[in-house]
Amino acid sequence: MIDGHIHFHKQPYTLETIENMVSVAKEKNIDEIWLLDHTHKFHEFIFLYEPVMHNELSANWFRKKKFISINEYLDFTSLVKSRAYDVKIKFGLEVCYFPETENLLREELKKYQFDFLIGAVHFIDGIGFDLSKEAWIGVDVDQMYKRYYEIMELLIESELFTTLAHPDSIKLYNYYPTYDLKPTYLRIAQLLNKHQMSTENNTGLWRYQFPYPGLNPEFLEVLKKAQVRIHLSSDAHEYKYIGAYFNCL
Ligand SMILES: [Zn+2]
Ligand SMILES: [Zn+2]
Repeated sequence: MIDGHIHFHKQPYTLETIENMVSVAKEKNIDEIWLLDHTHKFHEFIFLYEPVMHNELSANWFRKKKFISINEYLDFTSLVKSRAYDVKIKFGLEVCYFPETENLLREELKKYQFDFLIGAVHFIDGIGFDLSKEAWIGVDVDQMYKRYYEIMELLIESELFTTLAHPDSIKLYNYYPTYDLKPTYLRIAQLLNKHQMSTENNTGLWRYQFPYPGLNPEFLEVLKKAQVRIHLSSDAHEYKYIGAYFNCL
């Protein structure tokens, strides 16, 4: 079994962190772990976030961030790859996708060789819809959903990524559109196959007290029917949550 989305987040880039991750993975019968961090942790990707600076809540969030160089991460991945572990370890990035900065992103990503790249829609025209419930005040929910999936289609068509992150994370604060999402789910499934991308059944929403772990059941059914490659992912921000809630899916 794979856990395809595990953050270092605030855990240090040390062999001890890796050993802790490996030991939890083994306890949970996970034999492959995909480790990553967000692009918004690194100086080298600050340019990506220009669109969020036009939204007050998102800009405030971004200004408070402390950045490090991606070289710290890259040096660490080389060290880990030179050693042997009982579970297979892959390294990648979770990349915030913005149509506005796609071309610059394409150039930047050419500099790196990761095992995988997970593309994520975390912002809709500057709005950090998963940053706080406050971000939803006064927004048109139908329009938010439409834009979320339009941006997701562009993400997939960019062919910059191997995996699409949490493709229904917009439900986080329990806002739902008035229109039927099934045609949207079908379109996303077709596009993922066309561009040979996988997606994930991400259990990470438990951290936000979302009522159930993982993908919306209707979306999951559409993806399975279309035979889209799906792997489980915990989105763990601490090693102890690797594989969390996999047994509930
Ligand atoms: Zn994410
Ligand atoms: Zn994540």
